[in-house]
Amino acid sequence: MKTIKSVYVNGAFIEPHGTEIVSVISPLNKKEIAQIVYADEQDTLAAIEAAKAALPGYSKSTINERIEYLTKISIEIEKRIDDLINATTLEYGAPGERAKWANLIAATTFSNQAAMLQQYSFSKQVNESIVIMEPVGVAALFTPWNAVAGSIAIKVAAALAAGCTIILKPSEFGSWQAEIIMECIAAAGLPNGVVNMVNGNGAVITKPIMESSEVTKISFTGSTLVGKILAKQAVDTMKRVTLELGGKSANILLEDVDLAKAIPMALQAGFMNNGQACIAGTRLLVPESRLNEVRDLLIRESAKFIVGDPSSADVKIGPLASQKQYDRIQQYIQTGISEGGELLTGGLGHPEGLDQGYYVKPTIFINVNNEMTIAREEIFGPVLSVIAYSNEEEAIQIANNSEYGLMAYVSSADEKRAANVASQLKAGRVLINTLKHDPMAPFGGYKNSGIGRENGVIGLEEFLEAKTLIK
Ligand code: NAD
Repeated sequence: MKTIKSVYVNGAFIEPHGTEIVSVISPLNKKEIAQIVYADEQDTLAAIEAAKAALPGYSKSTINERIEYLTKISIEIEKRIDDLINATTLEYGAPGERAKWANLIAATTFSNQAAMLQQYSFSKQVNESIVIMEPVGVAALFTPWNAVAGSIAIKVAAALAAGCTIILKPSEFGSWQAEIIMECIAAAGLPNGVVNMVNGNGAVITKPIMESSEVTKISFTGSTLVGKILAKQAVDTMKRVTLELGGKSANILLEDVDLAKAIPMALQAGFMNNGQACIAGTRLLVPESRLNEVRDLLIRESAKFIVGDPSSADVKIGPLASQKQYDRIQQYIQTGISEGGELLTGGLGHPEGLDQGYYVKPTIFINVNNEMTIAREEIFGPVLSVIAYSNEEEAIQIANNSEYGLMAYVSSADEKRAANVASQLKAGRVLINTLKHDPMAPFGGYKNSGIGRENGVIGLEEFLEAKTLIK
């Protein structure tokens, strides 16, 4: 049985001080595929010490040295891409193409960061002053289980580029993927203590981190619930805070839209990553005048989203990541039915012949109103709610009537019209007639979707303090 490494401190994988042994269960068949011994408070204190000791040296590293490390990590991830795809399929349930895309993004995140460092100026003239951008210090990075490699990469790359040292706390529910990424980082030959990892129970590991005044920055990606807990704790030691949290994104189809293009895209937006995506477009806003056409197309096109073993080439949706996720999605589907949503496709239970793993039926509710639970809460599974609107103004009002504001989507035959709608949406990113990702532009949310932004210059500056020199 494989034992996953949970502690990397001061340049080496070490035996954890923690003793709790936890099974890693594959969502494909509910079988144990590995075990992990959870790190504990003691392991975390050691990681904090190592990061603190490495800070004076690494914060003074040259830009060229940092570029070299970032480039090396990117190359190491590319070298391990097959291992990463395998782990992402067996541990998470991602279909092969998705697993490949998600892990290659991790590699390019490091190389993009290196390219950006070449152009970034850590010292600039502002009016009569010189402003120097300094590393914020020891950074604790918390990441979720639904995008393991990508969310580790986006944070580690920016923190390293800034000159910070790191305590990485990946999700304990994606520990095999995290182990491989940590091995790639370790292979890049950074000085000891610059990157440390402790994996285990979230509350146990975050406690010493949040209490430590040596840790001056937290960057958290995960649920809004936990993000808020950490943000409150952060104030006591005045840690700088970046939060990337949940979403309930609206996808507005304007009246002139080409539905033959927009509906497959809307399904992709709703069901991406087995529906477990913070950016999923789970509220599909449709003009009343075209609701019947949408209904027919959704039935036809959703049949193409084949659920099954993610290693099969034609499968688009694999199992959910865990029993907890399976139960959660069943509960939301039941709530949708109980609150009067009309089930267009899917529903409760496993798809036929797929009860050996955490497989669910991709589900579409139609005639949903924006006050229903399924339109308000982040479900985090392949469940789409179709909401009809009477005019553009109402569509914008419904889209913005959410406690979240991470992503939004607008489709129209007239790009100018779509851009005008996009300008009125309270979301950190709006995709117009596309599902494209831009890794250099800011990513993050309004409202309960978070604080701050990742990616590019703005993401780097989340790990920097500005010091003004006036002569
Ligand atoms: P989570 O909040 O449960 O866990 C995130 C991290 O916090 C993990 O490392 C976990 O160990 C730790 N943690 C969990 N409970 C804790 C506690 N009580 N105290 C301290 N730490 C704790 O989130 P998750 O279930 O891993 O991820 C899913 C969520 O992440 C969804 O809401 C999704 O929308 C969000 N997400 C957001 C983005 C984004 O960029 N905005 C990206 C991916 C996922």
